Amino acid sequence: MRIAIISDIHANLEALEKAFEIIDYKKIDRVYCLGDIIGYGANPNECVAALLSRGVSAIIGNHDKAALDLRVAAQFNRYARAAVEWTAKQLTQANIEYLSNLPYTIVADDCTFVHATPDKPEEWNYIVSEYDAQEFFEFFTTPICWVGHSHVSGVFCEDMKTVEVEKGKRYIVNVGSIGQPRNGDWRLSFGIFDLDEWRYEHVVSEYNVALARKKIVEAGLPPYLGDRLLSGM
Ligand code: ZN
Repeated sequence: MRIAIISDIHANLEALEKAFEIIDYKKIDRVYCLGDIIGYGANPNECVAALLSRGVSAIIGNHDKAALDLRVAAQFNRYARAAVEWTAKQLTQANIEYLSNLPYTIVADDCTFVHATPDKPEEWNYIVSEYDAQEFFEFFTTPICWVGHSHVSGVFCEDMKTVEVEKGKRYIVNVGSIGQPRNGDWRLSFGIFDLDEWRYEHVVSEYNVALARKKIVEAGLPPYLGDRLLSGM
């Protein structure tokens, strides 16, 4: 049994569709989404619809929450805030309800799934290094906790030595971002985990970034949000 873990789609339909193409090609059994489905990109409703039509198990991210309650965007920079305000106006009532019902945490398939951190996921703190990760291992009981939020992929082992996912050890793994990477690489990324073989694959792929950028500009969103897609920052 293999699961795909996607995160931080940020309303980038071109990247999401490419990820699903790969997921279909690899015949993945189940898909989990770690939140931030919307915010930044031009296709929030279409991205929610794509997750719904595929029966993806999703949790809520801070940008999803902010579109439902603009007070959450108080800490956002002006570009993120502009995007959230635009997104809130676009969302259909059905999609608002869908997002409102997303949980903060899912525990399934021997894994824990959260957007930010497993202790208090609603506080939206970041795990960006294996040092950060150490303080969170006591807050989940499964071998692996999958996280998003930083948009930078990483495998953080409890022993602070192991860099590959191996059976018998515990990990916090960030799968990177589908639609808004921040690691200097514009390509989409996500994770595939084989629960039988205990093998983790970090998938990286090109997609139609030019179209995603064009749609952002044409939607009247800050052009910077389109330009940053090209640099992955
Ligand atoms: Zn995000």
